Amino acid sequence: MRRPSSIWIVSKKYKIRFVANLAKHSLAVGMFRWESSEILIDDGLKGPGLAETLLHEILHAVHVTCNLQTGVDEEDIVSRLTPILLDVIRNGKNQKFWKWWKELDE
Ligand SMILES: [Zn+2]
Repeated sequence: MRRPSSIWIVSKKYKIRFVANLAKHSLAVGMFRWESSEILIDDGLKGPGLAETLLHEILHAVHVTCNLQTGVDEEDIVSRLTPILLDVIRNGKNQKFWKWWKELDE
């Protein structure tokens, strides 16, 4: 499946850009840029590392969307939420739940 180029968070569209050597240049494998409404992801990331980094950056966007204060706590909150939310979403034991949940909208 083709990599996504954007994600909607409520009413705002964020571009997703896969950047070569992002980690080398910025010392981070993912970056959220509020000013330009974009999420940058290191091109070399794959699998679970890519899933976790994308969710981490999406949570930064959610943080901004909620009008939560940006500051020292943001990174800590996002970093703590990411692995737990990732597990809830991706855990094979929850797939029945998510299949049911998606159908609630239909
Ligand atoms: Zn972060």
